[in-house]
Amino acid sequence: MIWNDEFETLPREVIESLQLKRLQRTLERVHATVPFYRRSFTEAGVTPGMVKSLDDLRRLPFTLKQDMRDNYPYGLFAVPLEQIVRIHASSGTTGKPTVVGYTRRDIEMWAELMARSFAAAGAHRGDVIHNAYGYGLFTGGLGAHYGAERLGASVIPMSGGNTRKQIMIMQDFGSTVLTCTPSYSLFLAEAAAEEGVDIRQLKLKVGIFGAEPWSEQMRAEIEEKLNLKAIDIYGLSEILGPGVGIECIEAQKGLHIWEDHFIPEIIDPDSGEVLPPGEQGELVITTITKEGIPMIRYRTRDITRLIPEPCICGRTHMRLERMSGRSDDMLIIRGVNVFPSQIESVLFNIDGVEPHYQLVIDREENLDTLEVQVEVNEQTFSDEVKILQDLTGRIRKEIKDLLGITCKVRLVEPKSIARSEGKAQRVLDRRPQK
Ligand SMILES: [Zn+2]
Repeated sequence: MIWNDEFETLPREVIESLQLKRLQRTLERVHATVPFYRRSFTEAGVTPGMVKSLDDLRRLPFTLKQDMRDNYPYGLFAVPLEQIVRIHASSGTTGKPTVVGYTRRDIEMWAELMARSFAAAGAHRGDVIHNAYGYGLFTGGLGAHYGAERLGASVIPMSGGNTRKQIMIMQDFGSTVLTCTPSYSLFLAEAAAEEGVDIRQLKLKVGIFGAEPWSEQMRAEIEEKLNLKAIDIYGLSEILGPGVGIECIEAQKGLHIWEDHFIPEIIDPDSGEVLPPGEQGELVITTITKEGIPMIRYRTRDITRLIPEPCICGRTHMRLERMSGRSDDMLIIRGVNVFPSQIESVLFNIDGVEPHYQLVIDREENLDTLEVQVEVNEQTFSDEVKILQDLTGRIRKEIKDLLGITCKVRLVEPKSIARSEGKAQRVLDRRPQK
């Protein structure tokens, strides 16, 4: 179902003229109210008045996560604190979190875009939405919560953790839609089986999974194990939180980004040049309706491409290809660029292997080493040594064929890799920091 028929199906030229008008207004506003933008525009020799077409956007400087840290906590807010009704923060791996603020209208807009996203995923009034995204400073829980209420569905504010209780509630309350990270959905399936609950028999029909990159192979695994349609959702707190873009259930191919609120660009992450439509690179997003903390050309570090072809669902908003990883997550192993999702796609195509793995990178005698630890299922684990050796050899060969690097493969016992209730920890980089 299309939630907002008027805005989700606008003709391309109307979307673009709306974007330009909203962009110009946003630029005037941040230039007038945020010293950081005034300074960075001046340094780049640009003024808001110079932006006369959408193409002119590329003349403006980028905004980086570091700029948010440098202006911690409220320096990038475009309104006085009296107009901010909500504050969220995303945890950084190091140091201070990045802080975002929402006005009342921002919260309204967020709820509206999340309702749109739920509807695109096939949810509607009458659904019981089991929201297992964390509630708190993280935007996932409350973002999905407000959207589910706006949609008119019944939302269960589960938050993360307490897995046994999650299963009981799903069973007793008749949850029909599950929202959590993709890795946690597999953990739920596994835990349900241990409780003697067949999760495939529950009422779940759709799962909306995000907050970490995942592969097509993992989708197939989740759909099989939980007996539902697995939908990819995209968002980041710097831009909004969840609901920046989502796959439609009609196509399940590419995530519609809500272009009446955001302008996406794809750039070469090294040169910063804008790439032609269809090419893969780093996603850059400009917000054009946000009041609290507008973002101009924010570098998301997510690697994707724009799909300009029209979608069968009738929505006219451009699609982003499923994220193949974050440039931050990209590992350089012996000079080769490696995304954990590439190794995941190899593992998930091999029988006998479970969807739980960890990559351990180390350095021995100045040479990077990669060890792939992957769980095997109970049956394979009890197989004879020869079979396990063959399996190890096959994984090693397929990774070598795909990436051109030799790795160690270690098959580990079922359930021996730590499970996460939020984002999975796939990578352990033990190399000394430069
Ligand atoms: Zn679509």
